[in-house]
Amino acid sequence: MKVLKFGGASVKNAKAVKNVAELLKLYSGQDIVVVVSAMGKMTNALEEITDGYINKKGNSVELLEGIKKFHRDILQELFPDPAHPVFEQVNNAFVEIEWILEDEPIKGYDFEYDQIVSVGELISTKIVSALLTESGISNNWVDVRDFLKTDNTYREAKVDWELTAVKIREYLLPKLAEQESGGVVVTQGFVGVTSENYNTTLGREGSDYTAAIIGSLLDAEEVIIWKDVPGVLNADPKWFDKTEKLDTLSYHDAIELSFFGATVIHPKTIKPLQNKQILLKVKSFYEPKGEGTVIKATKEIAENQQKIPSFIFKVDQVLISILPKDYSFIVEENLSEIFKKFSDHRVKVNLMQHAALSFSVCVDAETNRVPALITELQKDFKVLYNENVELITVRNYDQKTIDQVIEGKKIFVEQKSRQTARFVVKDND
Ligand code: ASP
Ligand code: MG
Repeated sequence: MKVLKFGGASVKNAKAVKNVAELLKLYSGQDIVVVVSAMGKMTNALEEITDGYINKKGNSVELLEGIKKFHRDILQELFPDPAHPVFEQVNNAFVEIEWILEDEPIKGYDFEYDQIVSVGELISTKIVSALLTESGISNNWVDVRDFLKTDNTYREAKVDWELTAVKIREYLLPKLAEQESGGVVVTQGFVGVTSENYNTTLGREGSDYTAAIIGSLLDAEEVIIWKDVPGVLNADPKWFDKTEKLDTLSYHDAIELSFFGATVIHPKTIKPLQNKQILLKVKSFYEPKGEGTVIKATKEIAENQQKIPSFIFKVDQVLISILPKDYSFIVEENLSEIFKKFSDHRVKVNLMQHAALSFSVCVDAETNRVPALITELQKDFKVLYNENVELITVRNYDQKTIDQVIEGKKIFVEQKSRQTARFVVKDND
């Protein structure tokens, strides 16, 4: 059994969806679980609806019309028969959002976000599943909420592994077995459900993690993430002209790179696969026969592959410096207090630096969380912050690569370990 994950870019329009069907034909006769994200940039669009709804700004209803039209256009291109049942299925999913928008928000931003945004995946999977059927690939659409059980940490739900292990055998496995030669199941990435049946999400780009959860619990032979790049590159082509594909990567390096902000794989994806030594592949949906990148145990990686420098740029960062108001040291009690505030406000630390009279932390500039955290910290500490900084990480660095990335930048923080160099910088003006 294999788990194949298709992200937003791989289903961004009618042509892309057809390409998914073509690609799946290469796997005919095998048991395949297909995990799909929302189409194109629909998660962002649904996020905007949520923002408008909660913060009472913009016009959520109008935005929703735009999203409907986007899907309707794709549907019309894929299914010439207007009576095809997929039209009604997609409409029904939109009704769920309309009902929410008609009422006042009840449980706050994160909760409403998950109820609204998860609809993107419900719709994309309906469309993909119907198109596969149309293309002669018999398959079952499975609601991930039947088996992927989580707690109620909305927008970053924690998986209940034990319950999910039971439910996945009860609800997903039989659907694979139902088909004669090689079963195909289509299900949603990113989405889970609480014990009270509220939708949850696993964090942005969480569909990779969904694929890993399913792969791990069903002991898949491999998990394949399909991308619009040939594999894991040593830098994001957005920032670098010359990039190199890594043919192989250890689980360890993959975790480090994604933890530091490489967006190619969701950071939580690696652990469940590493624990069971399940291969993770990253391949291009433009060249499905290409080798891509294979992620596996360190001992199986050739020496020369382990040395290629990788670069990760995280933009839109804020560097927060926390200082005592009375010139006393920053000591353990302060630190535990500070960390608690970060965790209460659910602000993730990307880098930290500790000195006698200050503690500096680099975080994503999340407008819904960071200002509130700063206000909270200001009650007990003096707080300085630099906005619009960048966090640069170089794994397997040498001096030449470092000189190249920090040229023309003002350095606020510099940290080096044996394999990794990190800098918080801003462009010199
Ligand atoms: N659709 C979700 C997102 O864009 C999940 C994913 O793509 O993995 O974050
Ligand atoms: Mg996506």
